[in-house]
Amino acid sequence: MDLMEYQAKELFARHGVPVTVGTVITDASEAASAAETEGAASGGKVVVKAQVKTGGRGKAGGVKLAQDAQDAVAKAGEILGMDIKGHTVHRVLVAPAADIAEEYYFSFLVDRANRDYLCIASTEGGVEIEVTAVENPDAVAKVSIDPLVGVDDAKADEIVAATGFAADVAAEAKQVIQRLWDVFIKEDASLVEVNPLVRLGDGSLEALDGKVTLDANADFRHEDHAGFELRDEEDPLELMAKEKDLNYVKLDGAVGIIGNGAGLVMSTLDVVAYAGERHGGVKPANFLDIGGGASAEVMANGLHIILGDPQVRAVFVNVFGGITACDAVANGIVHALEMLGEEADKPLVVRLDGNNVEEGHRILAEAGHPLVTIVDTMDGAADKAAELAHAAGA
Ligand code: GDP
Ligand code: MN
Repeated sequence: MDLMEYQAKELFARHGVPVTVGTVITDASEAASAAETEGAASGGKVVVKAQVKTGGRGKAGGVKLAQDAQDAVAKAGEILGMDIKGHTVHRVLVAPAADIAEEYYFSFLVDRANRDYLCIASTEGGVEIEVTAVENPDAVAKVSIDPLVGVDDAKADEIVAATGFAADVAAEAKQVIQRLWDVFIKEDASLVEVNPLVRLGDGSLEALDGKVTLDANADFRHEDHAGFELRDEEDPLELMAKEKDLNYVKLDGAVGIIGNGAGLVMSTLDVVAYAGERHGGVKPANFLDIGGGASAEVMANGLHIILGDPQVRAVFVNVFGGITACDAVANGIVHALEMLGEEADKPLVVRLDGNNVEEGHRILAEAGHPLVTIVDTMDGAADKAAELAHAAGA
């Protein structure tokens, strides 16, 4: 689960990382009192920041300084409702305007390729960090961390030195690094990123932004993490899938995908993407793994979600009959289409293989649903689904 900036800052505060969380508001009228409170120690000036789960808010106009309470209301009004990379802004954070002397970049992440953790840090942080990483890679330090040792005293010193923090901030930087490591390890995060970590005019350090990804596999030992879930920020189709216990991830394309088994579904996404290159560049619309049992109800739930995606033009059902044999899957499809009735209004390409495949084909053929096309091979079916999606306007 990705956290919003204000949620990341709440976690930072719990672990002693210097931070000012600020006040979250959802309506511009609330900005006046929030700014009165938050601006008390910064001469009335506050920063108004869009809370969306994407970066680059500053460049998109989602981070604005306000001179006083009245200005904060105006700025909040401009930012609320804004679209930032496809994310609508429903919340803004009002925080004291910081007097920034320097901006640093700091992160801990999982380094899968090297099977350990990695710290990436730079004294040239801020909104141009991606440019710095490309044009001046020497300015970006990368320090690998042995997961069995973690960030001990020596490792923290190594990170401080590799980053090149000036002597007068080194001691505080080391402490902040150790506390951010606490956030990373104790909260079971897979990413903790601070950009910018700033040096204020008075010389002290503060995390001015925060990006945290929590590992959902560890939710069982963090009861409090459930409190970070924001239903109104979730994709409505993904929310529906979660309620039905389906493994669904919304993507951007036009070919809806249903398969059984995560591996099969992932390869189906690849095959559809390749086939799409021959048909106007159409792409997969989602990941949906209906798992082992492909009952009519599960199939109907899956189709209901996929057909509810207005971007979908055709659906590819790719099932390998194992414990649940193809005849049961075919019956599931037929009954699902009966249950959905007129809601099923997009072409369906079905590829079945495995246990009882002949019986499965016979059942589908006998039902003769006008929207269903049976194709024997995975490549052939992907091609057909991409062709149909393209023909239907994708
Ligand atoms: P991002 O663009 O989504 O990463 O949002 P950030 O929170 O990192 O803000 C972008 C930039 O806005 C930062 O790099 C700062 O330069 C600036 N900024 C953010 N908060 C403040 C603040 O309180 N005071 C000042 N002067 N600048 C700020
Ligand atoms: Mn940032």
